[in-house]
Amino acid sequence: MIYDFMPVSFIDFPGKIAATVFISGCNFKCPYCHNSYLIPIREGIRSEKDFFNYLKKRANLIEGVCITGGEPTLWRGLKNFIKNIKDLHFSVKLDTNGSRPQVLEDLIKGELVDYIAMDIKAPIEKYGIFLKNKKDIDNIQKSVEIIKNSHIDYEFRTTVNDKLLTLEDFEALADWISPAKRYALQRYKYAESILDKEKSGIQDCDINFLKKIKEKLNGKFGEILIRE
Ligand code: SF4
Repeated sequence: MIYDFMPVSFIDFPGKIAATVFISGCNFKCPYCHNSYLIPIREGIRSEKDFFNYLKKRANLIEGVCITGGEPTLWRGLKNFIKNIKDLHFSVKLDTNGSRPQVLEDLIKGELVDYIAMDIKAPIEKYGIFLKNKKDIDNIQKSVEIIKNSHIDYEFRTTVNDKLLTLEDFEALADWISPAKRYALQRYKYAESILDKEKSGIQDCDINFLKKIKEKLNGKFGEILIRE
């Protein structure tokens, strides 16, 4: 269910001014999760009604809605929620961990999403660090294929934390998902709210490590972005 929303974001939806909606509930346990309070399903601090009232009022400013979490594809109300956004003619970006390929397929077929950003947490062999249920690995592989074979805009992205992943891990990850149009390396930044300080560390990841990965993966993707 909806937990809250950020009224305006210039960075969550590439090329668009967006409102970002947070959905609670997640089936992963990423040690660096910044939104760990959204892993359990929680009573929202703002409702769907609050969100649509806001969206209608700011239609002159907002171009799109970014739906993030938690893991939005676990929420049964997602499709209807998106339909209501689309009825108001906003673009929709969905952030996902890729564990519900059928939901992604359904949304893509229904032309309900314009952009998908899927997290690739690790090469397949290391996904266990992030999953609560190992069965999700198959689902994640299916989601990668569904997104790559779709006509919509997308990115794959990885949070880069050198305590969890090595340069060789990124090479293995790239061998798995490439070719793909866009791959983003997102720098791990320490925050008080992260799920597991011991595993993630309390230092931001060294930016030079991201640069080294980008150099190593050169040519494997249409473009490689570094997000600091
Ligand atoms: S970072 Fe991991 S645990 Fe946190 S919301 Fe995303 S997928 Fe879930």
